[in-house]
Amino acid sequence: MRKELEILIEMQKRDDEITKLQVLVEKLPEQLSNLKKNVADAQQEKIDNNEAIIHNKKEQDSRELLIRSNKEMMAKYQNQLLTIQTNKEYKALNKEVSHLEKRNEELEDEIVELMENYDELQEKKRKVEQDLKSAEQELQANEKRLENEIKEVEIDMEKFRSERKELAKGLPLPLVKKYVTLIKNRNRKALVYNVGNCCGGCGFMIRPQVMVELHAGEKIIFCESCSRLIVLNIKE
Ligand SMILES: [Zn+2]
Repeated sequence: MRKELEILIEMQKRDDEITKLQVLVEKLPEQLSNLKKNVADAQQEKIDNNEAIIHNKKEQDSRELLIRSNKEMMAKYQNQLLTIQTNKEYKALNKEVSHLEKRNEELEDEIVELMENYDELQEKKRKVEQDLKSAEQELQANEKRLENEIKEVEIDMEKFRSERKELAKGLPLPLVKKYVTLIKNRNRKALVYNVGNCCGGCGFMIRPQVMVELHAGEKIIFCESCSRLIVLNIKE
C-alpha cells in the first residue's frame, strides 16, 4: 500500500506541473495573438487615416471648384446687369448675385474647417505611423520567443503526461480510474494532504478513527466528503 501511495503522490506532482502548464498553454498564444492584433489594428488605423486625408482633399477641391464656377456665374450676371432694362429684372439678377456671394462665403468657411481638419489628420498620420512601427517592433521582438515557449510548454506537458502514464502502470486499474476521475472532477487535485484533522481539499473533518489509519499509512484513505485521496502531511 505504501508503494501505491508513493506512486499516487508522484502522479499528483506530475498533474500539478501539468496544471501550471495549462495556464501557459492558454496565456502564451493569447499574448502572441494580442501582439499580432496590435499590428493589424495599427495597420487599419493607418489605412483609415490615409483615406480620411484623401477624402478631405477631395472635399476641399470640390469646394474650390464650386467657388470658381460661382465666380464665373457672378461675372456673367454682372455683365448682364449693365444691359438690363427693367427694374424687376435688375432686382432678380442682383438677388442671384448676392446669393452666390453668400454661398461662396459659406464654401470658404467650410474650406477653412477642412484645412484645420487636414492638419489634424497629418498630425495623426505621424502618430499612427509611429504606433505601427512600435507594434511591429514589439511583435518582432517577442514572436520567436513566444513561439519557442509555446513549443517548450507542449514538450514539457507531453513529458509529464508520459511520466504519469508510466507511473500509473504500477497501480491497479480501478485505482487509476478513480484517480483520473478525481483529477477531472476535483479541480485537478486527486490527492491532498490533511490539514490538522481536516481534508486539505475540501476542509471536511476527518474522523478520529480515520486519522489513526492515516497515521498508520497502511490504507489508502479517501475523504468522506470530496472523495479525494488523503495522504498524511508529515510536515505537521
Ligand atoms: Zn475532502
